[in-house]
Amino acid sequence: MNLPASPPDPDGSGGADRDEEEFVPPVPDAVDLVLETATMLSVFAAERLRRIEAMRRDEVAPVLGRGSGAIDMAERSIRLELAAAMRITEYAAGRLLLQAEALVNRYPRILDSLSGARITEKHAEIFVDLVDQVSPELRAEVVDRGAALAEAESVGAFRRGLRDLIARVESKTLEERHAAAVEGRRLVVEPGADGMGLLLLHGPQVELHAIYGRATAMAKAIRRAPGETRTLDQIRADVVADLLIDGTTAHMPAAASGIRATVVVTVPVLSLLEDEAAAAADPAVVEGIGPIPLSRARQLCGGNAKWMRVLTHPETAMVLSVGRDRYEPPAALQKLVKWRADRCMGPGCGVPASRCEVDHQIRWADGGETSLENNCPLCKGHHLVKDNTEWIVRQIPGSGGAVEWISPTGRRYVVRPERKVPVFRSGGADTSRAPF
Ligand SMILES: [Zn+2]
Repeated sequence: MNLPASPPDPDGSGGADRDEEEFVPPVPDAVDLVLETATMLSVFAAERLRRIEAMRRDEVAPVLGRGSGAIDMAERSIRLELAAAMRITEYAAGRLLLQAEALVNRYPRILDSLSGARITEKHAEIFVDLVDQVSPELRAEVVDRGAALAEAESVGAFRRGLRDLIARVESKTLEERHAAAVEGRRLVVEPGADGMGLLLLHGPQVELHAIYGRATAMAKAIRRAPGETRTLDQIRADVVADLLIDGTTAHMPAAASGIRATVVVTVPVLSLLEDEAAAAADPAVVEGIGPIPLSRARQLCGGNAKWMRVLTHPETAMVLSVGRDRYEPPAALQKLVKWRADRCMGPGCGVPASRCEVDHQIRWADGGETSLENNCPLCKGHHLVKDNTEWIVRQIPGSGGAVEWISPTGRRYVVRPERKVPVFRSGGADTSRAPF
């Protein structure tokens, strides 16, 4: 560990003040001791990557200019050497070489963050994997903001945030790419073993999620029927097969009929109006999928009840509408609470809000309200931790839904929701208002 150097003593007073107060170093607790080793791992990881890249350069230098075949052979040889020396697989050695080459040459800023233990090796790995996929002319737009994200977020949130960032940068060309990709939609049967096979539908993700969501909802309803012994996977497969073969599924309990898929589409309202404004606005986003072409978003917002439409203000990103005029708890509130968070509000958790329970931070039994200020989605696991351990979990007042988790050792972690919602005054139903 680096200790801070003593500051210079420009006024020549000899630092008498410092001598009088005896410095008592803080006693590290068990978590501090773990964090200390995690810091060392980051520092060492960066150094290892630097040395690996130096080794690669040394080996490749003599064959530079002799063609790609010679360089390829040299790199294979280095990979083998590294794998044998470190006693890891050649695949793992190849990944290390790739990471080292990328970080030293293309993303020195990220390597720097790793050296300073401001990110973990996993962050660096995700960064290289995702940003290397971006076309080189767009990369510059991603690197700095991506680095800031890596230093601020836990691994899961960082991966999502970086994906969003890349999608945003690339969305300028999304429309054309999507139009070309849609041409390739198809249905394929792949034969498998033991008389089984796979039916593969290659199509737009929005529709595929709707199909999967509807099959799951129906399967869950069917599974609750008395005497039902099939697993959820099995029922889901049966439901889809029944619907496609006969147009209906047999033995459907009343609860499973009438289920229609819901897909949440978030659209900056200006982008629905005209193309010029659309070009400047954020892309339309589908929950769990990411940006979709604006032309597609316009179709989805054209009045089809299958889609929950969320319109946002182009500048404030405030919600203008969740597809109804007034705020009516609890169903609408649940929807809004989940939509705002997008995911479980546990630190670093990635479970989609649709699979979460809505938690009252101050328990209902203790007088907690059912309100945006007191509700957030938590996955089963985090809900259990919150209710049964010494973690303290509460929403930060006025933060628009940020939740603080205070650990049994007193550490504080803040989880921010994905989106902002308008503020509703309590009281009569007609007092709902948008904040602009
Ligand atoms: Zn969770």
